[in-house]
Amino acid sequence: MSRYQVQVTDTYARGAQRPWSTVRRVLAEESGPCLTPVLIRFGRLRRWIACGRRLPHDRQCRNCCPRIVVTEVRRITA
Ligand SMILES: [Zn+2]
Repeated sequence: MSRYQVQVTDTYARGAQRPWSTVRRVLAEESGPCLTPVLIRFGRLRRWIACGRRLPHDRQCRNCCPRIVVTEVRRITA
C-alpha cells in the first residue's frame, strides 16, 4: 500500500464560510514494489511497469493503490 501522510492548511477571510486558500503538504510517503506488474508493448519493445502507472485505482495491487491519511488540518483566519 502506498500511504501518504498529508497536512492541510486552510486560510479563511474573516466571516467567510469557505477558505480562499488550501495548501496540502505531503509529510511522508511509504510504499512497496508492485505486486502485479503490467506488460506494455510498443512495437517490438516490451516492458513491465507498475500497475499503478497503467490501471485505474480499483484494479491496482495493494502496494500501488494510494491511501491518503490527513494527519493535521490547520485553519487560519487572515
Ligand atoms: Zn501494482
